[in-house]
Parts: sequence; C-alpha cells; structure tokens
Amino acid sequence: MSAAAEVSTILKGGEFLIRDSRPEDVFIPEELNEEQLMVKQMAVDFLNNEIAPNRQKIEKQEPGLSPALLKKMGDLGLLGAHMPAIYGGTELDTNTNTVISDVFGPMGSFSVPFAAHTGIGMLPILYFGTEAQKQKYLPALISGDLKAAYCLTEPGSGSDALNAKTRADLSADGSHYVVTGQKMWISNAGFADLFIVFAKVGGEKFTGFVVDAHSAGISLGAEEDKLGIKGSSTRQVFFENVKVPAENVLGEIGKGHLIAFNALNIGRFKLGVIVSAATKK
Ligand SMILES: Cc1cc2nc3c(=O)[nH]c(=O)nc-3n(C[C@H](O)[C@H](O)[C@H](O)COP(=O)(O)OP(=O)(O)OC[C@H]3O[C@@H](n4cnc5c(N)ncnc54)[C@H](O)[C@@H]3O)c2cc1C
Repeated sequence: MSAAAEVSTILKGGEFLIRDSRPEDVFIPEELNEEQLMVKQMAVDFLNNEIAPNRQKIEKQEPGLSPALLKKMGDLGLLGAHMPAIYGGTELDTNTNTVISDVFGPMGSFSVPFAAHTGIGMLPILYFGTEAQKQKYLPALISGDLKAAYCLTEPGSGSDALNAKTRADLSADGSHYVVTGQKMWISNAGFADLFIVFAKVGGEKFTGFVVDAHSAGISLGAEEDKLGIKGSSTRQVFFENVKVPAENVLGEIGKGHLIAFNALNIGRFKLGVIVSAATKK
C-alpha cells in the first residue's frame, strides 16, 4: 500500500503539510458543481454590489454600515451557509463554505466582522449550546437580526486566556450569575447584540456564557485606533455586576476552555481561507 493510500481522511493538526494526499481527497475549484457555482456567484455579486462601492466607508468605519452589511448577508443566506437547516441555515458542505470564504477574502476589513460573527460568535452556541439556546439564538444570528462577538481576551490575559480575571457568581436564589470584569480587543463589540463571554464561576471555574450585550452593567471602551483592519470595530467591554440568567451558561461549568479554544480552532480554517484569498487579489 502506498503512503498516499494510507492517509486517513481525518489528519491531525498540520499533518497535511508532511503527508502525501490522494487526488480524490483534494478539492479544486475546477470541480465545483452547479449548486456550488450558483452560491459562488451570489457571493461574487455581494462582493461587487455591496462591498466594492462601500470600501472607503468600511475602512472609515461609517457608523451602522458593518451591521447593515451583515444583515444583508443574512437575508441572502450567507451567514448561515455552515449552519443546520433546522435553525434557518442552508447547511452547505465544507467545500461550498470554503468557496464563500475564498470569494470574501478581498472584502478588506469587513471580513473581520463577517468571520467573527459566523465563526467565534456562532460556533460556541452551535457546538456547545443547549437545544433551547440554539433555538433561541441561532435563527436570529443566521438571519443577521442579532450580531455576535466573542469576549475572551482581557488586559492581563491574551495567549494565556485561562488566566482571565472576569468572574461570575451565582445569585443566592440560583436564578442568575453576576458577571464582573473587563475584556479587550473585542471584534464587533461596537454593534454586537450578543456576547459569548468567558468568566470564572466563583473566581475559579472557567466557564462560557451567552450574554445579552444590552444588559444593564455592560459598557464599552472607545474604538481602538488600529494600524490596520480599520473597518472592524475593536473595543473593550466592561461588565459591572451584570445579571446573566443561569440558563445562559454555555456547556459545562469549568469546561469553558473547550468552547473557547475549539471555536478559535475551527474559526482558523475560515480565517486561513480568507487571508490566503486576500493575497491573491
Ligand atoms: C484586531 C484584533 C481583534 C481581536 N479580536 C478579539 C476578539 O474578538 N475576541 C477576543 O477575545 N480577543 C480578540 N483579540 C485578542 C487576541 O486574541 C489577543 O491579542 C491574542 O490572544 C494575544 O494576546 P495578547 O495581545 O495579550 O498578547 P500576549 O499573549 O501578551 O503575547 C504577546 C507576544 O508574546 C508571545 N507569547 C505569549 N505567550 C508566550 C509563551 N508562553 N511563549 C512564547 N511566546 C509567547 C505571543 O506569541 C506574542 O507574540 C483581538 C486582537 C486584535 C489585535
């Protein structure tokens, strides 16, 4: 048996870089089928008609533009291409989603709101949410009625994310958690309706939460003055005694790291496609 034939369909980490691939395991654009070509054309049309004329406004962060563009994408089904049909997604295969990301590579900095919303914003709920959480949030995230952000990083914890200081304390009656802390570099913070927040229950157990961004006690820092990707909203988020319903815990208490890191890992696939596509233009 040749080395190529031994390659399993699921490779670990960066194994694909050092192992031979079988031709049938490789997807090339020339093999796009009719449906994939139609989806691609819709994405190309969106890029040409909605992004290209707004490029300068996007880079100048015109208020309301990014959320409005996300909503238009939602109306076209472009926010839910990777999401199950039962929640309003179009449940397209990975190759088709890759094609969408490839087309959207040259979107400039609008690719950050898009990737943050559809990736680290939505995936924690898809993979770790309860059925009730999925039914409550995913349809509105897929349609673009709600916009999501992912709040992990803090002033004192970036790469070492588990050193977070943000804490969540259960109320005496068990009905809600009180979240207090500070997050920074949060993409989409300026317009998000929903925050995926990581906080330590009782100051110890790192846990994920779905938090209504309009909750009392949440405030935002000023827009960061970045060197690049200026069209993306990046702000600090402050939580001061924010009441989060107990049913908004994501996954298991103390297992937030599984959510935080797996969402980032999956998001990196889309990110890789987007940035490599951007270099082609
Ligand atoms: C534009 C932008 C958007 C962002 N959006 C989000 C978002 O939506 N949500 C969110 O939660 N976060 C977001 N972030 C934060 C981002 O995830 C962090 O910047 C990242 O995790 C790195 O953390 P840090 O900036 O604190 O750097 P640090 O962790 O302090 O790292 C600084 C440098 O030290 C290196 N380093 C760190 N630890 C080690 C080690 N043990 N050994 C060797 N080298 C090490 C790093 O590689 C890096 O080069 C965003 C950041 C930016 C700039």
